[in-house]
Parts: sequence; C-alpha cells; structure tokens
Amino acid sequence: MQRLLVLGGGTAGTMVVNKLRRKLDPADWQITIVDQDDKHLYQPGFLFIPFGVYQESDVARSRHRFIPDGVELVLGEIDRVDADAREVLLTDGRRLGYDYLVIATGSITSSRAAPIRISHPSSGSARRSWSRTASGARSLGRCAARCARRRSPATSASSSARARPSSRRCPTSG
Ligand SMILES: Cc1cc2nc3c(=O)[nH]c(=O)nc-3n(C[C@H](O)[C@H](O)[C@H](O)COP(=O)(O)OP(=O)(O)OC[C@H]3O[C@@H](n4cnc5c(N)ncnc54)[C@H](O)[C@@H]3O)c2cc1C
Repeated sequence: MQRLLVLGGGTAGTMVVNKLRRKLDPADWQITIVDQDDKHLYQPGFLFIPFGVYQESDVARSRHRFIPDGVELVLGEIDRVDADAREVLLTDGRRLGYDYLVIATGSITSSRAAPIRISHPSSGSARRSWSRTASGARSLGRCAARCARRRSPATSASSSARARPSSRRCPTSG
C-alpha cells in the first residue's frame, strides 16, 4: 500500500485529493490530508466582508464537506517534515508517515508588501494592511465604515469636527 500525504486542506490540497482519489486505486493507495482546523474559507468571498455583503459564516464551510470518501482528514497543526524518516510531525506529537508528499500549505501575505491605503481629509493618509484573512477583511470593513461616518455630513456637521484629526486609529488586520 502506497501512502500519499497532502499537507493543507485549502483550495490546492482539496483539489489534489479529489482528483487523485478518482485516479488512484483505493486498494493500492491510502490518501491522507492534514489541516489545522475544520474551517474551509472561500477566500474570494473575503472581498465582500468589508462591505457587509458577506459575514465570515457565509464563506466558511466544514472541510469534511469537500473531502471525498476514501480520503482520511487529519486535523492538527503541522510542525515539520522529517524527509529522511519520511514523516510529518504534528505539534501535538503525532507522526504521519508517507511515501509521496504534497505540500499545499498556502502562503502568507506580508502586510509591508501589500498595504491598502485608506485616506481621509481629516486624518491624512494611512497605510492599512489586509492579510488575506477573514479577520483582516472585518478589520478593513470597520476602518472603512469609520472613514465613511467621518465623511457623512449627518455625523460630522461642524467643519471643526471634520478638521480634527482622528484620535482613533483604524485597526490593522488580523
Ligand atoms: C480576497 C481574495 C480574492 C481572491 N480571488 C481569487 C479569484 O477571483 N480567483 C482565483 O483563482 N483566486 C483568487 N484568490 C486566491 C485563492 O483564494 C488562493 O490562491 C487559494 O485559496 C490558494 O489556495 P492554497 O490551497 O494554495 O492555499 P489555502 O487555500 O490558503 O490553503 C492552505 C491551507 O493550509 C493550512 N495550513 C497552513 N499551515 C498549516 C500548518 N502549519 N498546519 C496545518 N495546516 C496548515 C491552512 O489552514 C489552509 O487551509 C483570492 C484570494 C483572496 C484573499
């Protein structure tokens, strides 16, 4: 029995196990996929969270829903790969052996490399980061809402209020 181990149950890892489960004979191939949690997030949906169109719950689904029969889903945080031993170590001490390994653990955006610039006449221009997370999207939404309220004549009737620099800083992303 050959062991295929896929690290990361995001878009890439989920597609790999779905495609390969159909092609590889279950009698000969054991397929396992690992992720740290059971929350698959549809990242393009993050674009709609700052505007209140979606909540995080609208873009989150259980990973089990996308993993086909015949693939084992292991939930746990990956610590490291021991290539010599052909094992993956999880932070809780579990060890997963493999013959073939797919690493699909995604990427992290550097907030320094990809800031979002939000500007407002009263507070100048500020760099705000959005790190491709649902919490980052919510944070951006709160920040944009505050800027919008400050722009609104109904909430900032006097010009002195408009001119006063904001003491509250918009949150950075999570
Ligand atoms: C706002 C936004 C809009 C987008 N729009 C589009 C679009 O229109 N079209 C398009 O094609 N793409 C779009 N993308 C990009 C697309 O969503 C990503 O390219 C895709 O999700 C990347 O998939 P992935 O499997 O490589 O990574 P991910 O989907 O991020 O999966 C990585 C997985 O690895 C897991 N993981 C990481 N480290 C560990 C660890 N140590 N232990 C256990 N598990 C771990 C994570 O929990 C995660 O589930 C968009 C992205 C964003 C943020």
